[in-house]
Amino acid sequence: MTGMDSTAPAGFDRNAVTRFAPSPTGELHLGNARTALFNYLLARRAGGRFLLRIEDTDAQRSQESHLAAVLADLRWLGLDWDAGPDREDDRGPYRQSQRGALYGRLFEALERQNAVYPCFCSPLELEAARRAQLGSGKPPRYAGTCRELSEEQRRGKRTQGLPATMRFRVPAGRRIEFVDLVHGPQSFLSDDIGDFVIRRADGTAAFFFSNAVDDASMGVTQVLRGEDHLANTPRQLLILEALGLRLPSYGHVSLILGPDGAPLSKRHGATSVREYRESGYRREALCNHLFRLGHSSGEHGLLDLESMARAFDPTHLGRAAAHFDAQQLRVWQKEAVHHLPADEARRWLAPELPAGLGEAAASAFVAAILPNVVLPEDARPWAQIVFGPPPAVAAEGEETIRNAGERYFAAATHAAAQSGNDLPAIASAVRAATGKKGAELYMPLRLALTGRSHGPELAPLLKAMPAGAAHARLARFA
Ligand code: GLU
Repeated sequence: MTGMDSTAPAGFDRNAVTRFAPSPTGELHLGNARTALFNYLLARRAGGRFLLRIEDTDAQRSQESHLAAVLADLRWLGLDWDAGPDREDDRGPYRQSQRGALYGRLFEALERQNAVYPCFCSPLELEAARRAQLGSGKPPRYAGTCRELSEEQRRGKRTQGLPATMRFRVPAGRRIEFVDLVHGPQSFLSDDIGDFVIRRADGTAAFFFSNAVDDASMGVTQVLRGEDHLANTPRQLLILEALGLRLPSYGHVSLILGPDGAPLSKRHGATSVREYRESGYRREALCNHLFRLGHSSGEHGLLDLESMARAFDPTHLGRAAAHFDAQQLRVWQKEAVHHLPADEARRWLAPELPAGLGEAAASAFVAAILPNVVLPEDARPWAQIVFGPPPAVAAEGEETIRNAGERYFAAATHAAAQSGNDLPAIASAVRAATGKKGAELYMPLRLALTGRSHGPELAPLLKAMPAGAAHARLARFA
């Protein structure tokens, strides 16, 4: 590879250019989000560039709304790109649907060297040939029906109005080798690869072609992508080689599986970035979990993207499939919430706060409950308890309240009348009146004030309640 900086640690290339190349045919899946993250980190660790290319040549399946959603998800994750459909530069346009002129020139170049030919086989004929091959135990590959048609035969078919795809003429007897960043040395025989379509009958470029030539023409140096593309790479290398274009290095990242070992899918629960975002997951949590899926790292704490970029090591990408673990994601989420700055936490929980709550009251409430919150929905019952009417005491707490006795609550109520929502003042008055300590002192107070035997630390929670709340709640038992 050119451009290696000999003073940089091994594997760092300041000229590294990576890319994420989604097809806007659906939501951003966790697997794709991880691919985007890894490419982003690979570029950022080296001080290189990260590109966003939209693979929308399949007009039927690509939708503007999906594109907008993918961009929004990537922005939310914090994976900002140096060039992309909204940030064009001289290597663009970054939407494949706008790169037809470039593809056209390259198709012509391939035609000139007889590296391609028109194929008039109909989908029906292709399917029949495929079945026949499978039936006789052979791997299905294009039988070469149109490979050697004469110019006259081609003209005839064109005059009949038969639509033609363009097929790449795979050279015979070649061994195609490359070193995969994850899987190591790879070797394929060209004779195992049938001639494949690089231009559809409607004139649009097919995936193998546009994906490979764009990587080359955009100066991409490393391609990290899903393992499902590994078998495509030899075809793409052949295209690039025929065009004399520079070859990127490829790394194929293991798939993400659900807990049952099947590829992660809807039946495992939420699989899109949007679903996690909308249920209140923090991007830090998602990124930290994805960072460790199929990538082993000695860094065990919650990392921001910058530290992740420093810690990302493509030689630590594993070959074994990675398991998505919702529990582990929750652990990261707890960690992320724990690290939230106060104003950020307030914004995050804003939808759960009562309307019209002043900033100071909101801050006090959020600070009090945050240690007990993993997702915003966990704040909802506490908002009800703190700002709603005095909460009923759970059945299992009634006896504790009764056993505390009248003197206990008389002292507590009196103290609350004097000092407001001040737990230390109330507790010390009760202690003085009853001699109780520890759980015997605090549990009846917690039950009377919150209705529950467990919850956030009581003193700050009480402070977050509206004035007079302690008195009103305790007086019920005096
Ligand atoms: N558009 C392709 C996909 O979403 C890109 C594959 C690649 O990264 O090369 O699978």
